[in-house]
Amino acid sequence: MAIEIATPATPPLKWDYAGSKESADIANIEERYGLFIDGEFVSPKSKKYFPTINPATEEPLAEVAEAGEADVGDAVAAARRAYAEVWGPMDGAERAKYVFRIARMIQERSRELAVVETLDGGKPIKESRDVDLPLVAGHFFYYAGWADKLEYAFPGIRPRPLGVAGQVIPWNFPLLMLAWKVAPALAAGNTVVLKPAETTPLTALMVAQIAAEAGLPPGVLNVVTGAGATGAAVVGHDDVDKVAFTGSTAVGKLIATQLAGSHKKLTLELGGKAAHVIFEDAPLDQAIEGVINGIFFNQGHVCCAGSRLLVQENIHDRFVDKLKRRLSTLRVGDPMDKNTDVGAINSRAQLEKITELVDSGRDEGAEMFQPDCVLPDRGFFFKPTLFTNVAQSHRIAQEEIFGPVLSILSFRTPEEAVEKANNTPYGLSAGVWTSKGSRILWMADRLQAGVVWANTYNKFDPASPFGGYKESGFGREGGRHGLLAYMDWDEE
Ligand code: NDP
Repeated sequence: MAIEIATPATPPLKWDYAGSKESADIANIEERYGLFIDGEFVSPKSKKYFPTINPATEEPLAEVAEAGEADVGDAVAAARRAYAEVWGPMDGAERAKYVFRIARMIQERSRELAVVETLDGGKPIKESRDVDLPLVAGHFFYYAGWADKLEYAFPGIRPRPLGVAGQVIPWNFPLLMLAWKVAPALAAGNTVVLKPAETTPLTALMVAQIAAEAGLPPGVLNVVTGAGATGAAVVGHDDVDKVAFTGSTAVGKLIATQLAGSHKKLTLELGGKAAHVIFEDAPLDQAIEGVINGIFFNQGHVCCAGSRLLVQENIHDRFVDKLKRRLSTLRVGDPMDKNTDVGAINSRAQLEKITELVDSGRDEGAEMFQPDCVLPDRGFFFKPTLFTNVAQSHRIAQEEIFGPVLSILSFRTPEEAVEKANNTPYGLSAGVWTSKGSRILWMADRLQAGVVWANTYNKFDPASPFGGYKESGFGREGGRHGLLAYMDWDEE
């Protein structure tokens, strides 16, 4: 008698997360935004507007005004008036109240701000909600606390504000870069003209609304939206006393040239190509998490991303195997899903740049690995990617990719690790994983980087200064150092 073997009626269970989508209903996005000048939203004299889109769906979110030179002139004039008549002469304790109030209101509206940050920029909601917004509020609180204590922050000098600050920020951390710049500038007694990035203007405009609701005197904070030309008009305006810029090294160099010989004070926070160094004695599982966070946080759109992994040769293969397994568990897709680890690339232009550099990696002979994940049909997405067999001369080892792409190299000795880590025009950040404290200090002494993280990565704190060496720029943001960039002083 033949025996029949039963086939299972149901396919094997596939364990997956249930969708957990954040609602966009809380976000009150207007159809059209004017420029925020002298305490109110005004139509641009340029009469021009541009759309801002959701990079995860390619659908328009709002129309935003494009500030021309005349508009920038109005914003600077408003900032100058407010500086001379109200904000400059105001007692530090009074200024602090406004900055505290803005901090509180950002905290109160943090859910809405996180949703808009994700819709406009493409970053996962869990990052906007749990990283960006707490840090944004934290910076305003921190600097509010200094506003009436400036002479204690820097013993031996009598500090005074600079005047009008022109600030240009990028699209990777729209609100956080605003906070890094606006909070210390206001606390130190300066007034501000801020130019957010073209692809992510919405949350800066919401902060302008918050500032108005907080009763901040008109002209103290002005927000002029637009593209690079608007940024150039802010930076180049004669009546600006201080320029703070975060963005690409190419534009940073342009600005440095433009301002050379002028009276303006300048801080530049530019690109990076950070080395993330893993020694054989590192806690490997923790290091894997550090590496994942170091490069895939915010889709790798991070100036201090750990984009060059240096692994000690005798653990290289084991580490790379573990890393590939971990890469395969990353959830790529809808940024509004609370389970998403890697969201949308910020713009089509950035996606094209990443694709071109990744193609160059393959063409130059590096070996590419991407997990087997399905990308959404619409929007700008890129699979988490790693390259092995990378030579130091490859473009993917030299140039800032600013995307979810990791280049892996190996080393044998600590000296070689330092040599390779420093073999870059950049010098913003670095990471070291080892169980030896003495080795951490030895490495930190030799790595040419503004920030060196040890057995962790991408940790930020309002009290801690951040900034670069070499082509990563100059000046520090955060901490007391961040205040000093907005002040002049007399020796006592
Ligand atoms: P940019 O340097 O062009 O943009 C940064 C900011 O500067 C934006 O607000 C931009 O406006 C503005 N801007 C552009 N041109 C000028 C100018 N001549 N004068 C004054 N302001 C100007 O960076 P991209 O957006 O083009 O990104 C290109 C690359 O730069 C990325 O791939 C990445 O490698 C790097 N980058 C590094 C960042 C960092 O944090 N260090 C941040 C962003 C980018 P608009 O947005 O309208 O162009």
